[in-house]
Amino acid sequence: MYRSVIDAIGNTPLIRLKRASEETGCEILGKAEFMNPGQSVKDRAGLFIIRDAEEKGLLRPGGVIVEGTAGNTGIGLTVVAKALGYRTVIVIPDTQSQEKKDALRVLGAELIEVPAVPYKNPNNYVKVSGRLAEQLARTEPNGAIWANQFDNIANRDGHTRTTAREIWEQTGGKVDGFVSAVGTGGTLAGVAIGLKDRKSGVKIALADPLGAALYSFYTEGVLKAEGSSITEGIGQGRITANLESFSPDFSFQVPDEEALPIVFDLVQEEGLCLGGSTGINIAGAIRLARELGPGHTIVTILADYGTRYQSKLFNPEFLRTKNLPVPEWMDATPQIPV
Ligand code: PMP
Repeated sequence: MYRSVIDAIGNTPLIRLKRASEETGCEILGKAEFMNPGQSVKDRAGLFIIRDAEEKGLLRPGGVIVEGTAGNTGIGLTVVAKALGYRTVIVIPDTQSQEKKDALRVLGAELIEVPAVPYKNPNNYVKVSGRLAEQLARTEPNGAIWANQFDNIANRDGHTRTTAREIWEQTGGKVDGFVSAVGTGGTLAGVAIGLKDRKSGVKIALADPLGAALYSFYTEGVLKAEGSSITEGIGQGRITANLESFSPDFSFQVPDEEALPIVFDLVQEEGLCLGGSTGINIAGAIRLARELGPGHTIVTILADYGTRYQSKLFNPEFLRTKNLPVPEWMDATPQIPV
């Protein structure tokens, strides 16, 4: 029995991805992070950031946790905050899916939508959340903290201490590679540290969407972004504190045209309904499998549940506005007479 929802965070299963494994001759395994109570990998960050603040004496009962987030971290923080008696104030760019905003409101987060502007703009959601936290720390009776997921390494540590250990135990140490996209870098760098500690030869790969700058940084040494992606929660333009002193063994740049068909096939053929970042992750795992050759075991992250993107990724009209391929089944009308 779990004492609270918090005990249900982590210890997610590893699911063999059938088509990706068969196509490459490798075992490609997905860590089912969509099975966390907040339905994403970010529940872990939420939990470790809050626990770290508690241990440092920064959070008082009834205190406020402020964060700028594409949504999933806000959901993870709010699930944990509610269970522990804190409030959350969440700043989200207005471009993020309606479903994530709705989930945040249902969970009881106090939601502030801001226009999506680049990080260097002082009105970027991350910077707005930092300023708001400072203000609320002065005005709220029980104080406030800034979760600061990008530069708070409690995020990365959570993955080193849980995700990496779980992957190691679940594969019995038979893991040759790990691949993931980056939002904050907590998952990729945190798992990399935990796996390399146990087996230095394990290969770590970055899968970067278009519009992110890390691929060019790790291949040419310059932060340079080109193109765009409809994926949410990933696509970093700077070296966050979570990425400091990290460098991948391989870097792949994955266009949406390669990633999205993987997501669509997974629903239809394997019953796995997942978000767009998971498509980037699995495309990266397939590319790493091709680099390493058959017979290897490669783990990646099934980052969040697909119903979170019904109005975008799983909406043919939306895909057409972005000139992205629409799978046939998405347009089909049911043929069963009633
Ligand atoms: N996928 C999704 C759907 C996410 O919300 C996030 C986090 N923003 C990530 C991947 C990336 O995780 P991380 O922040 O640990 O790099």
